[in-house]
Amino acid sequence: MWRASAHGESELAQLQMMGRALGRVFSHELYHVLTGSSHHAHSGIAQAALTPAHLERYPP
Ligand SMILES: [Zn+2]
Repeated sequence: MWRASAHGESELAQLQMMGRALGRVFSHELYHVLTGSSHHAHSGIAQAALTPAHLERYPP
């Protein structure tokens, strides 16, 4: 049984947000590894910094 957190999100929702955020950070690092590039873009998975809003937004 999932319980509500202090922020009103269920534990399941928190886990989903965490998984989404980790997946986006992992994808960004994988972009560097696969392309062999350290360059960044202005948007998308290759942008230099991802805000909490970028990490949580669904769909991306
Ligand atoms: Zn980077």
